[in-house]
Amino acid sequence: MTAEDQRRTQLAANLAAVRQRIETACRVAGRHGEEVTIVAITKTFPASDVRLLAELGITDVGENRDQDARPKAQACADLGLTWHFVGQLQRNKAASVASYAAIVESVDRARLVTALDRAAGQAGRRLGACLQVDLDERPPDVGPSTAERGGCAPAELLALAGQVAASEHLDLLGVMAVAPLGVDPRGAFDRLADLHVGLLAEHPGATMRSAGMSGDLEAAIAAGATHVRLGSALLGRRGSTEVT
Ligand SMILES: *Cc1c(COP(=O)(O)O)cnc(C)c1O
Repeated sequence: MTAEDQRRTQLAANLAAVRQRIETACRVAGRHGEEVTIVAITKTFPASDVRLLAELGITDVGENRDQDARPKAQACADLGLTWHFVGQLQRNKAASVASYAAIVESVDRARLVTALDRAAGQAGRRLGACLQVDLDERPPDVGPSTAERGGCAPAELLALAGQVAASEHLDLLGVMAVAPLGVDPRGAFDRLADLHVGLLAEHPGATMRSAGMSGDLEAAIAAGATHVRLGSALLGRRGSTEVT
C-alpha cells in the first residue's frame, strides 16, 4: 500500500464513523441523516487530504485562516468543492476570501459585512454569509475574550441580518456558533436554535444552522444543526503547533 492508499483508507474509515454518529444522532432526534451536511474542516492538513475527501464524497470544506485556505483552494479548484471560511476574519482579507470561498460562516460585525459585500462585488461573485453568534454568557474574565472567540452578541443578530440582507452581493444563509468551552453544549445550541427561529421570522430563507464540531455533533444535531463542522474526527489530531 502506498502512503496515499493508507491515508485514503484511514479517511474513509473516519468518514464512515462520523456518518454513523450523524445517523444515530438524527435517529434519536427524529431527523433524517440527509438533513445534515458535513463541512470537513481541513485546517493544518494538506491539499492532498482535501482531494481524498472529495473522492470519498465530501462536497463542503472549511478553513479558518486565509493564508492557508487560499493556496489549498487554488490547488483543489478542479474539484468543484464548496469552500466555507469559518475563522476570525480581518477586513483586509475580505478580497482574498471572496476569491475562493462560497460561504463565510464567521460574519460577526457591521464593518466586515461592508468589506465582504464590496469584495464580492469586485470579484463579480455572490457570497453566502452566516452570522456567527457568541453564545458564551459568562463575563470575558471567565472564558476567552470575545475578541478571541468571535461572534456577535445575540442582541446584535437581527440588525446584522438586516444589513446582510440589504447588501448587494451577499446572501444571508443563516447562523453559526461554536459551543463555549466548559459549558453544556446542548444548552448553548438550544440558545442558538432560539435565536435562529427569531431570525427566520424576518428572513425565512436563512435556514442554515452551522453548529457542532467533532466533540459535540450529537448535541448540535439534537438542537437542529443543518451543518456540522468536523475537523479531528475526520482528519485526525492536529499538530501541537496549530493555530485553531
Ligand atoms: C477547527 C474548527 C472546527 C473543527 O473542530 P474539530 O473539533 O477538530 O472538529 C469547527 N469550527 C471551527 C470554527 C473551527 O475553527
